[in-house]
Amino acid sequence: MIHSEIAKHRNDITIRNIWEARKQISSMVNKTPLIQSSILSEKIDRPVYLKLENVHEVGAFKVRGAANKILSLSEEEKNRGVTTFSTGNHGLAVAYVAKKLGIEATICISNRVPRAKVDSLRRLGANIEIFGEDQDTAGERCYQLQAEKGLTVIQPFDDPYVIAGQGTIGLELMEEIPNLTDVIVPLSGGGLLSGIGLALKSIEQDIRVTGVSMEHSAVMYESLKAGKPVKLKESETLADSLLGGIGLDNQFTFRMVQKYMDEVVLIPENEIAYSMAFMMDKHRMIMEGAAATGIAAVLGNKIPHQDGGIAIIISGQNVDLTVLLKLTQNYIFDQNE
Ligand SMILES: *Cc1c(COP(=O)(O)O)cnc(C)c1O
Repeated sequence: MIHSEIAKHRNDITIRNIWEARKQISSMVNKTPLIQSSILSEKIDRPVYLKLENVHEVGAFKVRGAANKILSLSEEEKNRGVTTFSTGNHGLAVAYVAKKLGIEATICISNRVPRAKVDSLRRLGANIEIFGEDQDTAGERCYQLQAEKGLTVIQPFDDPYVIAGQGTIGLELMEEIPNLTDVIVPLSGGGLLSGIGLALKSIEQDIRVTGVSMEHSAVMYESLKAGKPVKLKESETLADSLLGGIGLDNQFTFRMVQKYMDEVVLIPENEIAYSMAFMMDKHRMIMEGAAATGIAAVLGNKIPHQDGGIAIIISGQNVDLTVLLKLTQNYIFDQNE
């Protein structure tokens, strides 16, 4: 194992673990491009950069954390295989990494999961276990597989290796934007924000970290307000990758988001839709709703003004094209906008 053991205690993930993650995943995960957006920069009169995490082969940043976690397993654990119950970007990332390493991946899903998602997981060579009527029940099957067959459950966010993997984005930002003052991070379970926040603030305490979520079912936001992890009912949103609980026995990300996030901004659905259409029309870029929340925060002038650069994490691009095209048609942008 190349890694020094990450202690299982709270508080114990450090920037050293993020540097280790960077070395660990370098053979599998490419550094992503950073571009300056002149349209957004002109709109708010300061440099706006887009960190293109959508260009990973799986279309989202989650490959960083999944790679770091799976590569940290012992040979014996790798031989027994891995499992997870996400059907979204985390599930794709786990299946992708496992395939590259020749490890068996089993994704547990409920019988409600749409055919298209099941097909893309199968294409990545994952075993699919269909179990129960909802995500929670499918999750239980993962833990059964762990108990019965010794598979390792790969958590989507509340795991030190996953957090350190996502944190490698922070190192790349620091190298490329010396005058960085703000970073905008889509927020769900908080693995992405915890990793980036830890990396950036270990280097420069004054960099402001803003989390962005959709207005309804923002579980981390409501949990922070309550002072402890809470459960919420899910409602329909374009930012579907931001749905899901943070775990009532959350070990790491609740506390880390509390520590590293300066501010949280909630985005209404119509602004998510507008931002997806705007990026399609003006930037010729496809982004999923979760990623568009960061664009919406800038377009809506929700980031307090200060000098220096803003980086928006473009976290993913896995959106149903019929949805994107339809909402793009609903907005007509004139030339001067
Ligand atoms: C998972 C995901 C997020 C949120 O990451 P967390 O670590 O759960 O906060 C944001 N955007 C996309 C596209 C994602 O897949």
